[in-house]
Amino acid sequence: MNIGLVAHDSRKKLMQNFCIAYHGILQKHSLFATGTTGRLIEEVTNLNIHKFLAGNLGGTQQLGAQIEHNNMDLVIFLRDPLKVKSNEPDVNPIVRLCDAHNIPLATNLATAELLVRALERGDFEFRDAYK
Ligand code: PGA
Repeated sequence: MNIGLVAHDSRKKLMQNFCIAYHGILQKHSLFATGTTGRLIEEVTNLNIHKFLAGNLGGTQQLGAQIEHNNMDLVIFLRDPLKVKSNEPDVNPIVRLCDAHNIPLATNLATAELLVRALERGDFEFRDAYK
């Protein structure tokens, strides 16, 4: 499955720890991330990540285009619920695209963990039918 990963700055450490914790599951899949998020994950794991541009340079639009082309099976966008910096991409276009294309999306750690465990259980097989 193709997994998209994005984290706002205040959630990047959390994303790194999430990827360390679920490394065993994530390594079986194809990972895509916005530039900085991807680089930071690679710094703490040996996961191979296809890196889009940095979020503020169009990386989230690149991710959005992949969602539109039905190339993403799961998106994890750990967003800052309190204060998004002006240079950080808005989560809403990604939420809208995932809703439009019926793609599982996590915006917080609890949902991310549930979805990754579901992925490991084989619950994402329905995505094959879409492709
Ligand atoms: P980044 O993009 O991973 O390139 O930082 C996301 C963000 O800016 O929040």
